[in-house]
Amino acid sequence: LQLTLAIVKPDAVAHPLILEALHQKILENNFIVIRSRELVWKRQESERFYAEHAGRFFYQRLVEYMSSGPMQAYILARDDAISRWRELMGPTKVFRARYTSPSSMRALYGLTDTRNTTHGSDSVESAHREIAFFFPEFNVR
Ligand code: ATP
Ligand code: MG
Repeated sequence: LQLTLAIVKPDAVAHPLILEALHQKILENNFIVIRSRELVWKRQESERFYAEHAGRFFYQRLVEYMSSGPMQAYILARDDAISRWRELMGPTKVFRARYTSPSSMRALYGLTDTRNTTHGSDSVESAHREIAFFFPEFNVR
């Protein structure tokens, strides 16, 4: 089993039917939910989490959005959890997602390239780092 850190971003948590549909995706795709928590980021936490994007044109908009309201974070487990979850998310950009992966979560529910519904770790290293960020009491190794 592999672990990944998934986030349902504020735009999706704000809509109960979308949150429900995403939970359905998690279950249908045989992920095991190891941990789950709702939280609201302070702007500083948002900046720290997305530090790798500091300076990009969308950075301010991204950190503001990610600290704009409640989100839901999950530790998910499955074989190939990292790439399977990212496949379900679809491409970062909503219009690309709609074009290339019409049944992906971002294609179905994404509002803009920033408000794109979900996050998923992109490597084993970032999964470990992000799990520790959201669930400091959880021991990954
Ligand atoms: P995430 O890290 O959220 O899972 P990702 O790995 O597909 O998404 P990254 O390149 O890591 O994408 O970008 C992080 C987030 O920054 C994206 O999910 C999106 O919210 C925002 N973002 C990325 N690229 C753009 C862009 N070109 N325009 C607007 N927002 C963007
Ligand atoms: Mg990323």
